[in-house]
Amino acid sequence: MSVDFDAIIIGAGFGGMYMLHRLRQKAFTARVYEAGSGVGGTWYWNRYPGARCDVESVQYSYQFSPELEQEWEWSERYATQPELLRYANHVADRFDLRRDMRFETRVTAATFDEAGNFWRVETSAADGARQTATARFVITAMGCLSSPNTPKIPGLEDFGGPTYHTGNWPHEGVDFTGKTVGVVGNGSSAIQSIPIIAQQAKHLTVFQRTANFTVPAHNKPLDPDYVRGVKANYREMRARAKTKPAGIDFTINPGSAVATAEAERNREFQARWEYGGLGFMASFSDLLLNDDSNKLAADFVRAKIREVVKDPETADALTPRNIIGCKRLCVDTGYWATFNRPNVTLVDIADAPIERITSSGLRVHGKDYAFDCLVLATGFDAMTGALLKVDFRGRGGVSLKERWSEGPKTYLGLTVAGFPNLFMITGPGSPSVLTNMLPSIEQHVDFIADCLDSLRARGKQVIEAEPRAQEEWVGHVGDVSNITLRSTCSSWYVGANIPGKPRVFMPYIGGLPAYIQACERVVANGYEGFAQT
Ligand code: NAP
Repeated sequence: MSVDFDAIIIGAGFGGMYMLHRLRQKAFTARVYEAGSGVGGTWYWNRYPGARCDVESVQYSYQFSPELEQEWEWSERYATQPELLRYANHVADRFDLRRDMRFETRVTAATFDEAGNFWRVETSAADGARQTATARFVITAMGCLSSPNTPKIPGLEDFGGPTYHTGNWPHEGVDFTGKTVGVVGNGSSAIQSIPIIAQQAKHLTVFQRTANFTVPAHNKPLDPDYVRGVKANYREMRARAKTKPAGIDFTINPGSAVATAEAERNREFQARWEYGGLGFMASFSDLLLNDDSNKLAADFVRAKIREVVKDPETADALTPRNIIGCKRLCVDTGYWATFNRPNVTLVDIADAPIERITSSGLRVHGKDYAFDCLVLATGFDAMTGALLKVDFRGRGGVSLKERWSEGPKTYLGLTVAGFPNLFMITGPGSPSVLTNMLPSIEQHVDFIADCLDSLRARGKQVIEAEPRAQEEWVGHVGDVSNITLRSTCSSWYVGANIPGKPRVFMPYIGGLPAYIQACERVVANGYEGFAQT
């Protein structure tokens, strides 16, 4: 049976773009379907005010093309969403990617045809047109945080003003000047957008369910000398980053926080604080392994909140009680200071859920709060949400939803037993969201492209994870997650933000170097753990 394409790729973010490029280099035919009207994925959808990367731009960038590395100029330490979107568009132009992409086309279902060993993929376009295409392989590149979570708060549809979700922000932007605004949530998206919305709005009310840890970004324009240095030494920096658990080139202090004398410990925390960014969690190597060490880091940050926030009651409400870094650490610019502004009110809703959204605002603690615009910064159905929106059907017509009813099970976070010739870029069970996404994406794309090449060279049609190999990998992912404090709290890493979602620690927390080694071992042993026919 002849198929339309060797591979169908779902999503035109950083994963889908590079996948297409690599497949073309290896003379495979491929088609990308993308629900949005352009490339960029996360940076296409998340256009809320203040959206920017929390990994430094020179590291959060492709490394597959030294020419691209040299010609692209990042302007700030942490790139803004518009700059990242320009970068994505530049890559699409430079590598002529768009001709094999179909935009405003959502993949709704994909069924494996066991007789012919191919996938039948169904799409739905923005104009309502439905089509079917066939391919030997399907590769998902839908992102880990791409399925927005709109909580089922009673009355949501009754609100009289506009409602915005940070994960699906209007392209034309929103001007809050002179408006009263309510923001629900205080994760990374809220923490980035609240300071900017507060500068525009007449009044901003923030409804906070769980106080969150954040560290300063200390964002700044990039110094041309620094950029020249990076460009001259890109290979070394990228190689160093791959030796770090998070795939980010920053120095990890090998010491233990509890075992370090107080003055020295505080010097280390302070130095990291002044430098800014996620490297704060690398102040000591045991912050996510030892409760006492974690408490020392958490207390350091708690004291900073009290230093910045003038009203003691507000400072207290903003002070997180949980483990630092258990939920994804946030990186901010002026978040706490925003609560000193006279036009900003914090409403602590930790002890009671929002009763309902009303036509003019919302009701909580039996009290009505009125505002013109509602911003839901309520996050995503992480890691599995986007995958399960597509009706994948593997062998015997079994659906992925059914197969994952107790939580996602994968081999290497790349494949699922019973779903032949289906690959996932940064799927659950891979390091993905615990790392710098770009090198993790590139590693997966290279693995998949090399695998397809190897199958072709050996005359094989089908590759499929063996159930036993998958069980072992799932067991290993679970075992390593139990070593860290991260598996202990209610975060989107364990699906706790979505009512009814099975509690499973979804990403692989063993670190990027261990993961790369595991993948390399699998390849060296002839794609060990995969059935190939
Ligand atoms: P999030 O971290 O899941 O935060 C969602 C917020 O909404 C939480 O404060 C949550 O409270 C609150 N919430 C959800 N449902 C609620 C309800 N029914 N009532 C009241 N509050 C509710 O989502 P996010 O901020 O979009 O970030 C998600 C992830 O995306 C981040 O962790 C990060 O990995 C990534 N991200 C990165 C950047 C960046 O800097 N590059 C920026 C944005 C996002 P609870 O905590 O109580 O559940």
